[in-house]
Amino acid sequence: MGGVMCDVCHGHSGCPACSKEPDYVKCLDCDGEGYLFYTEEGDDITRDDFYSSGGIIEKCTICDGEGEIIDDRFE
Ligand SMILES: [Zn+2]
Ligand SMILES: [Zn+2]
Repeated sequence: MGGVMCDVCHGHSGCPACSKEPDYVKCLDCDGEGYLFYTEEGDDITRDDFYSSGGIIEKCTICDGEGEIIDDRFE
């Protein structure tokens, strides 16, 4: 049983040929929530604060509401 060596990258990380799933990392802009919560004054609040006290909810445009983004920093 030898290791399966990829002809494309020879074991280098971030290879599209042998890593089928792209690397997803938590979106730091919304802290993985997918949405941004803030008061009408523009102060950042948490999701809990939003549901208890109200406020403004806005879909995160960085991750498009997914809460995670494809990590393409290997390029
Ligand atoms: Zn590879
Ligand atoms: Zn986000």
